[in-house]
Amino acid sequence: MRKNTKNLLLQNGIKPTFQRIVIYEFLDQNRIHPNVDKIYAMIHEEIPTISKTTIYNTLNLFLEKNIVLGLTLSGTEMNYDINITPHHHFYCTNCGVVHDVFISCPLGNDKLKITDGHLIQEVHGYFKGICKNCIN
Ligand SMILES: [Zn+2]
Ligand SMILES: [Zn+2]
Repeated sequence: MRKNTKNLLLQNGIKPTFQRIVIYEFLDQNRIHPNVDKIYAMIHEEIPTISKTTIYNTLNLFLEKNIVLGLTLSGTEMNYDINITPHHHFYCTNCGVVHDVFISCPLGNDKLKITDGHLIQEVHGYFKGICKNCIN
């Protein structure tokens, strides 16, 4: 696992430091679309020397290199997703958790031309409401 992460980072022009590998693998193993505070809280338990700035800078680097997606569903903070294949998301306005939604989009496949000439290359839908854990 660690060797694959190292190669993936190298292939994307990222120097594979220990901390970057840890952060990438954390996102890979915790597919909960965490925000930076959650990532920091959970990694900090394992590696007390890691700073929030390091995590923040690393996430920005990952975004820049397109190896993670940054979701801005809440309007106030970024949630990070290691699954960079376009897919839809559901944001719970009660608990703030972001869930993947696997439904087909009415627009169909993602290489459609719409009437005013724009070429759609990706479709990212997002939905807001009350999640199944909060609804009862
Ligand atoms: Zn909820
Ligand atoms: Zn997702």
